[in-house]
Amino acid sequence: MVGVLGFCGLVLKEEKMTKLRRLINEAKKSCEFRGHIMKRFTHSVPYNGIIWGHAYSECEACKKSVMCNAKPAPNDIEISGEAVALHCLGG
Ligand SMILES: [Zn+2]
Repeated sequence: MVGVLGFCGLVLKEEKMTKLRRLINEAKKSCEFRGHIMKRFTHSVPYNGIIWGHAYSECEACKKSVMCNAKPAPNDIEISGEAVALHCLGG
């Protein structure tokens, strides 16, 4: 039983990582489409420290940010931030 539970936990964890990676790719594409030069995505989210399942980045030029959330609340969204909504003004 313990073995089965452990296996499930592992699968869940991998699933989450894959989803976050997919969200990061999507976010990066959307930001670059808007002309931003995104920094490396990090799990360290401003004000909240390191949150598992989240990734954060900002534009080198205009400092607009983007946040990915692999486990959004029902009223939350997976990719948010000004960098996906607005065009780059930094260069
Ligand atoms: Zn920008």
